[in-house]
Amino acid sequence: MTPRIERFLADHRPPSPCLVVDLNRVGENYRAIAEALPAARIHYAVKANPAPRILEMLVSLGSCFDAAGPREIDACLAAGASPGDLSYGNVVKKPGDIAKAFRQGVRLFAFDSAGELEKLAQAAPAAKVYCRVLAPNDGAEWPLSRKFGCSLDMARDLMVRARDLGLDAHGISFHVGSQQTDPHQWEVAIGRAAMVFSDLREAGIEIKMINLGGGFPVPYRDPVPGFDAIAEVIMKAMTANFGNRLPAMAIKPGRKIAAEAGVIESEVVLVSRKSYDDEMRWVYLDVGLFGGLAETMGEAIKYRIVTPRDGASAGPVAIAGPTCDGADILYEDAGYTLPLDLKAGDRVRLPGTGAYTATYASVGFNGFAPLESYYV
Ligand SMILES: *Cc1c(COP(=O)(O)O)cnc(C)c1O
Repeated sequence: MTPRIERFLADHRPPSPCLVVDLNRVGENYRAIAEALPAARIHYAVKANPAPRILEMLVSLGSCFDAAGPREIDACLAAGASPGDLSYGNVVKKPGDIAKAFRQGVRLFAFDSAGELEKLAQAAPAAKVYCRVLAPNDGAEWPLSRKFGCSLDMARDLMVRARDLGLDAHGISFHVGSQQTDPHQWEVAIGRAAMVFSDLREAGIEIKMINLGGGFPVPYRDPVPGFDAIAEVIMKAMTANFGNRLPAMAIKPGRKIAAEAGVIESEVVLVSRKSYDDEMRWVYLDVGLFGGLAETMGEAIKYRIVTPRDGASAGPVAIAGPTCDGADILYEDAGYTLPLDLKAGDRVRLPGTGAYTATYASVGFNGFAPLESYYV
């Protein structure tokens, strides 16, 4: 909760639910990352929060961007980013979308398969490409499973193929999974990427760039390692693996830049019990899984919930959203407690909700409007 957000909510009393993002905090988050890891170029992962005001703030600070689809590329360019500062990081793209990005001046593309490489050679001739390798996602609270990346031997062969297709075989990337709480995972992934570098050197290809992905965690309900500690692990692993032949480094933070800049304010709609002897209360908020809190799926991301009655004695609760869908439950097993005198009509706040919320909200499921957002 920043003073600017506090003031905005007090002065404007916007209808609930809403997300309020402090743009200065976005800038501070960006600068803290840049200072802790000066060797790396920062490509903001636009999907975390593509709001124009956020993109404009980051353009003004010299950030690069990682876009996943055509509208994210349009949004970056509209915010003043130059196409040379964009990477098209999705490894699953339609040929028409690749061609459009190429026409717009984007020259850096990700891939993890032979099929994608063929498309890139056709639609983005001679562009720089980087291959995403599988990374272990152990320790990630929002893992990316095996959907993205390929094995190291395949990455090697694909990079050779990229060169043969006339593309610029530029780099290797990985992503250790979002909200990754174990710094050691970057060390493991860097070691794996370095193996591809040396295999390719033997094949006569000198790779120039390593993209260390995103995944940097933020403290929600539970504490996590700070960015400085992770940056130190990263630099140690880079020197251990590459010595004084460090390739260009890039990172793609999303959550770490946007999450802690935002707060969702929500209203308690109902507090109820399921039976006379049940100690567990059900607290229904006016925001839920379909209203922007999609990352509570499987109780993965555990937001802090601040109420005006904190400090009074508390008891166990299940917390759910307002829709008629049985899946719209935020927390049932994660051990949440809330004040016993919490009532319908109380306003509660969820700090750390500036990333992966607003664009995750449904367009109107059950008659509820998408999450309103304010950028201050
Ligand atoms: C989502 C994503 C990111 C950003 O992840 P965070 O955990 O928000 O930092 C970075 N790289 C890729 C490829 C992604 O898909």
